[in-house]
Amino acid sequence: MRFATRLTIVMALLAAGSAIALSSIVSRLVDRSVEERSSERLQRESSLLATEIAPVLGEPLAQDRIVRRAALDLGARITVIRPDGVVTADSGVTPAELSSLENHARRPEVAAARSNGSGFSVRHSATLRRDLFYLARRIDDRGYVVRLALPYDDLRHIESQYEWGARAAIALVCTLLFVTGSVAVRTIARPIRQASDAALAVAAGDTDRTLPEEGLVEIVELSSAINRMKKSLLDAAARIERERQLGAAVFDTLPDGIVVVDRHWRIVDANPRLRELLRADCAAGLPLVDVLRDRELFAPFEEAVKSGRSSHATVARAGDVTWEVSVHPLSGGGAAAVGIIHDVSSFRQNESMRRRFVSDISHELRTPVASIAAAAETLASLGAREGEERPLIDVISRQAGRMRELLDDLTDLTFIESGEIALERGSVDLTATAREVAADVQPAAQSRHIGIVVEGQSALIEGDRRRIAQIVRNLIDNAIKFSSDGTTVRVSVEGDDKQAVLSVADSGEGIPERELSRIFQRFYQVDRSRSKVRPGSGLGLAIVKHLAQLHRATVDVESAVGVGSTFRVRFPRIQEEA
Ligand code: ADP
Repeated sequence: MRFATRLTIVMALLAAGSAIALSSIVSRLVDRSVEERSSERLQRESSLLATEIAPVLGEPLAQDRIVRRAALDLGARITVIRPDGVVTADSGVTPAELSSLENHARRPEVAAARSNGSGFSVRHSATLRRDLFYLARRIDDRGYVVRLALPYDDLRHIESQYEWGARAAIALVCTLLFVTGSVAVRTIARPIRQASDAALAVAAGDTDRTLPEEGLVEIVELSSAINRMKKSLLDAAARIERERQLGAAVFDTLPDGIVVVDRHWRIVDANPRLRELLRADCAAGLPLVDVLRDRELFAPFEEAVKSGRSSHATVARAGDVTWEVSVHPLSGGGAAAVGIIHDVSSFRQNESMRRRFVSDISHELRTPVASIAAAAETLASLGAREGEERPLIDVISRQAGRMRELLDDLTDLTFIESGEIALERGSVDLTATAREVAADVQPAAQSRHIGIVVEGQSALIEGDRRRIAQIVRNLIDNAIKFSSDGTTVRVSVEGDDKQAVLSVADSGEGIPERELSRIFQRFYQVDRSRSKVRPGSGLGLAIVKHLAQLHRATVDVESAVGVGSTFRVRFPRIQEEA
């Protein structure tokens, strides 16, 4: 039941209850007033009557005459009662019927009159079927009593008219109150109902519906707040829908296959590219294993979910196809992980083509470069030692030497990067290797008065001796190259049970901090426009990084411009044999 209906019912009950209560109060007031007025009047009349009857108490006929006349005059029934309660005269019956009347000694008004002088009561008369007002008065000390009885309605006649008037007024006022109240309730309830109907319609999807902003201030505020709320909800829904569509469009058009799986390894969602890559139906709900049909592809999913960390794998597929699979664990939303399958076949093919091209070019250039160098040497030996041509011949042989170095590095790097290089693994003493390399480069260092100091206990690592020496060589070469004359290059080998750390420290020109992350890239060289150092190939550190990776070692550098640089290679340690 609506609140307004309930309120109307309550008001109706209140109005009716108030009307009943007020009328009953009015009735009681009227009754009291009637009793007081009637009792006063009858007191006086009974007093006169008592005086008149007193002398004829022993004469029934005289009594009868008096009571009949008085009854006519006063419009009342008059009764004379002996002290024993026997009625001796009654205007309401014939003298012959007197003996049939009941004894009146017990009547309350009679008993009260005998003891107090007067008494009254209102009783219903079964004979007359009306309420009667009785007033009795003692006539003499013996206990004779005269009693007057009047129909109560007659006494109340005038007051009754007032009483009905008052009741009508009460009813009118209560009705007016009720009508005003219900109109007010309806006035307040209507806009609330309209607002709630509109709100329900909006909730049911009728987004065009707006709440009317009219009526009471509170209702206007409420409607306006709901309208604003509706607008912001619609805006939010539109934004979410836009984002969803964008997400779906990206998901559907991504060049990588994407699959989201739940905790039971069932597909939650997959994009069209995944279907294309796997050539399988990837509908939601299908078990991932059935869709992948490859243990190697499934493994990173298992690992990511088990470890709670991202996992990656490169999977070779039939027909020179290579996929990189990355799986990232997810939490919430009923999903356990998202897997991304990236087809790197063309990238791999391009890489291998690039490597082949570089190695072919290097190979082809090696012979002409060797010929140029040889020719320059011959020219020098043919008596051009002191002539004008001498400086030109020197330039030719220096540049030919540089080109040879560059070709060597390029060939080396391409070979190392291809992963085709096979390491001749064995136990290598890092410190001893460092000493040998230092001895090899000693003449070049000495020519610039640069000292090389090698420190450290013997430290065994596992790897290819020749390649480890190449790492050390590249680092010491750079240290000498970028150091000023007369300084010292310090090579040290330290470490613990877990790793052996080779450090090559110089006090040369240093590397600006912003360049540090890039010096290990192929062909990258710090801008040395103002430096006197002979430019290199830019491949030395790239070779160091790749060779270190092949040995599961890491390389890092610390450097400050004008102070020097320290390169560190951390090799995993093998236990020294006793
Ligand atoms: P490059 O043939 O130019 O030496 P690298 O790959 O060995 O090529 O080094 C890349 C760049 O890193 C160098 O050009 C140089 O700018 C910087 N670099 C390497 N080692 C040092 C060093 N010890 N001191 C200062 N700069 C260095």
